[in-house]
Amino acid sequence: MLSSLISNHHGQAINPFVIANYRVRTGSFMMAFVIFAAQWWGKQAGLLVWGLMVLQFFVYPHLIFWRARRASHPLDAEFKNLLLDAFVLGLWCAGAGLPLWVTFAFFSATLMNVAFYRNLIGALQVTLFFVGGVLLWDFVFHLQFALATDALTTGLSIAGLLVYMLIVSSAAYKRSIHLRHTRRELRQSEHALTLANANLQVQLEVNQKLQAQLTEQANRDPLTGLYNRRYLDSTMPRELAHSKRDGQAMWLMLIDIDHFKSINDKYGHQAGDEVIKGLAHLLHDKARAEDVVCRFGGEEFLLLLPNMPQAVALTRAEEWRQTFADSVISAAGQQIQATLSIGMADYPLHGSTQEELIGNADRALYRAKSQGRNCVVVYSADMLQTRPETF
Ligand code: GH3
Ligand code: MG
Ligand code: MG
Repeated sequence: MLSSLISNHHGQAINPFVIANYRVRTGSFMMAFVIFAAQWWGKQAGLLVWGLMVLQFFVYPHLIFWRARRASHPLDAEFKNLLLDAFVLGLWCAGAGLPLWVTFAFFSATLMNVAFYRNLIGALQVTLFFVGGVLLWDFVFHLQFALATDALTTGLSIAGLLVYMLIVSSAAYKRSIHLRHTRRELRQSEHALTLANANLQVQLEVNQKLQAQLTEQANRDPLTGLYNRRYLDSTMPRELAHSKRDGQAMWLMLIDIDHFKSINDKYGHQAGDEVIKGLAHLLHDKARAEDVVCRFGGEEFLLLLPNMPQAVALTRAEEWRQTFADSVISAAGQQIQATLSIGMADYPLHGSTQEELIGNADRALYRAKSQGRNCVVVYSADMLQTRPETF
């Protein structure tokens, strides 16, 4: 039955106070019935009185609970129910001619329950309604309070009051336990939320790191670990824009290993890879932090050297060429030596776009190859007719 009381017809959960009051009222009104029945027993009360008693003490509690359940503000409706309780009990106490102390017991029981929830204002209102009930009876039928009553009514009243106090205190106790439990649950879910939040934060950081790793991987050549062409395409426009903004020159170098096909043929593809890695290592070692070193193709490398005068660029290119020519690479049990050729173009002297600069560096490289390889050539206008081969 309780589960059907959990929500009202507005779909709202029923206030636990309304449910607790319903239980207290149903129980305590049954006890009140016993007290009034004892008072009236043997006094030739008519059928009307007994009928009204049944309605009041057995039907009324369910009716007003039903009303509070259906109300859009159940708590307000329930408070009005409590005032109505006080009024009807005032009427019944006066009507049954209960002695003053039992009437007072009924009054204080009603008062106690309301004061728990509505404090002094509620207590004042209950007093007004209870006294109102008593006075109405007095006004209509003239009241005669007895000072004492028979032993049965006295005994039942004492027992009733005691049981009532137990019921109300137990309801208040359950309510405080419920509150404590709810507070603990709230604290626990708060704690769980903080933990989940921290976990999420960690997860987020891991994801960000993974994302950064993925981007880094996408920009790197797996064989040499240098930047790839994809990275060059994304970074070169930016580098050109910086050089333009700062009014500085930027050198572009295209490096190609000489007769690489024959190295592959002679020592095998894997040994060829070692030679490529050897050159990559050398370039990476010698480059400045601001230089961009890419593997441009099979055994070709492209370098961007921002903010560098021509003399310095040439000296460095020459130094790299010489160092590579002097180095011996051990691979496949062999000592391999190779040379390289370099074509160079300058921004803004030899071109202002990526396409122009790479094209002209490639023309210079072509010239270096045709001049006998193992040398460095700077682009000049007379190469314009040369068709770039590798680009
Ligand atoms: P040149 O002096 O004119 O540059 O002669 P070359 O033999 O080096 O000619 P080219 O630059 O055209 O040849 C490049 C060769 O590099 C062709 C290809 O088989 C080889 N190659 C390309 N990528 C790789 C690679 O990743 N590993 C190895 N071992 N060889 C590669
Ligand atoms: Mg090549
Ligand atoms: Mg080559």
